Amino acid sequence: MHWKGIAAASGYAIGPAFLLKEMDVSIERRTVPADQIDGEISRFEQNVVQAVKELEEIKEQTRQKLGSEEAEIFSAHILVLQDPEFIGAVKEKLKADSINAEAALQDITENFVAMFENMDNEYMRERAADIRDVSGRVLKHLAGVEQQTIADSDQPVVLFAHDLTPSDTAQLDRERVAGFVTSIGGRTSHSAIMARSMGIPAVVGLKDVIDAVQPGDYVIVDGDEGDVYVNPDTATIEQYRAKQEKYKARVAQWEKIKDEPSITQDGYRVELVANIGNPHDAIGARKNGAEGIGLYRTEFLYMGKTDFPSEQEQFEAYKAVAETFAKQSPIIIRSLDIGGDKELPYLNLQREMNPFLGYRAIRLCLHEPELFKTQLRAILRASAHGNIKLMYPMIASIQELRQANKLLDEVKEELDAKSIPYNKEMEVGIMIEVPAAAMVADQLVKEVDFFSIGTNDLVQYTMAADRMNEKVSYLSQPFNPAVLRLIDKVITAARESGKWTGMCGEMAGNLTAIPILLGLGLSEFSMSAASILPARALLQKLRYEDTKKLAASVLQMETEEEIKEYVRREVPAIQEIRG
Ligand code: PEP
Ligand code: MG
Repeated sequence: MHWKGIAAASGYAIGPAFLLKEMDVSIERRTVPADQIDGEISRFEQNVVQAVKELEEIKEQTRQKLGSEEAEIFSAHILVLQDPEFIGAVKEKLKADSINAEAALQDITENFVAMFENMDNEYMRERAADIRDVSGRVLKHLAGVEQQTIADSDQPVVLFAHDLTPSDTAQLDRERVAGFVTSIGGRTSHSAIMARSMGIPAVVGLKDVIDAVQPGDYVIVDGDEGDVYVNPDTATIEQYRAKQEKYKARVAQWEKIKDEPSITQDGYRVELVANIGNPHDAIGARKNGAEGIGLYRTEFLYMGKTDFPSEQEQFEAYKAVAETFAKQSPIIIRSLDIGGDKELPYLNLQREMNPFLGYRAIRLCLHEPELFKTQLRAILRASAHGNIKLMYPMIASIQELRQANKLLDEVKEELDAKSIPYNKEMEVGIMIEVPAAAMVADQLVKEVDFFSIGTNDLVQYTMAADRMNEKVSYLSQPFNPAVLRLIDKVITAARESGKWTGMCGEMAGNLTAIPILLGLGLSEFSMSAASILPARALLQKLRYEDTKKLAASVLQMETEEEIKEYVRREVPAIQEIRG
């Protein structure tokens, strides 16, 4: 069997399929005689303790592997099992109806889930999923069902799931998960972005794939082309093993340029920096040759917890990132970008018809000044510890920029009043993600220090195609002339004012895009850590003067295909590096 999906994260994965879907545990209902009720209650309590212990272990493993923010997800699950109302209700039911623990737990779970699911508030609806999840864990313990875990497999597995949330992805163990395939999502959905930063090959947007695959089927995932083979013939397996070997050899080659500058043949230097989601990623970014951080997606510090991170917690996270790099290395911290496909249950946001066009990012922060100012204070305080720059996401109008800067000034005054140190020269930039902002870049540039182009959003808004919707993924075209002309407009506006432009959308790490962007005058390229070394290898083979001509020709072309073919023909180094 062969499928074609959306190539989401580079590399090849070969291994047995592991299906991530809810395991059904059939519940046996029985009456418990009066003299055995106490025993049944204590059986229930012991299994709850076991489940808590198991969750504590998972939480600790997650903390060690990915940091404390991600581990917090499991704290919410533990809280459910420590909630006297929930646990008490199960025991009451067991006693009142003289039924076994499994049956009582199932009944109470259904009541609680129905109650939470019917609430209008998003946070409460999310709790329903936690209760179901945790109750399933206890039921499996009660029923003595051995849970199949990825750790049971003697070789790394290929994970198949309907969807993986960004936090699911963050929990994947790179040693045990060779690759993953999901039925929904697009190339710039956040789980795809996380897969790239973790270096896990992935294909997304393959509808119904889960129903067709059996656990243990032998699978190949080609994260460059979007191909998935299930139980392929030996020739295909051989072919992919060879590809995998070559890929490993290329990676070993790239290692050698880890500490080299990002410089072209004719001596033109740019900055290659990384996109990260938490302080832990910064370590990986540095190991992969990043010269700094071009985008710290701070929302992951807020997600997967039950309440807002404190100012101190944020300050420590931002400072930790700065301290991972040398003092002068640029560290761009993006203010909170919640909304779209990134939810924050405890903010109690209403469901929206079009979340990507709705209440998100800077719109939300300007509406919640205290939330925003807490973050600004933490960023400013951290700026005393490194070359930290601040950047606002999703700016659509100059008024939003002014409003944000006004709040920043207020925070600076508060810090001054208390003599709290911060970098008074901290650079402040904006992301260009909305076509409206690109069109007035010449005006915006007068009030910022830099631009960073967010092509993931800029493409979806320019092409009016939701980045999460695989049905319109054919319109997700960063090389579309409309997008390239907007990018050109932004870079030109900045240059004319003596300012610089970077890019932190996924396009910045695309080998075919790099020669065009270089020729258009982009100064900073920010990408998943795994893309940095191949990008540097390519840059070292390019001549800046040639790419200027290439970019000028490309701007006259009509289709994305024509542009990509032209660039690949003109720049054979792209193919040499891709292999
Ligand atoms: C972008 O839109 O290109 C971007 C980098 O931001 P995010 O992917 O987090 O929306
Ligand atoms: Mg964006």
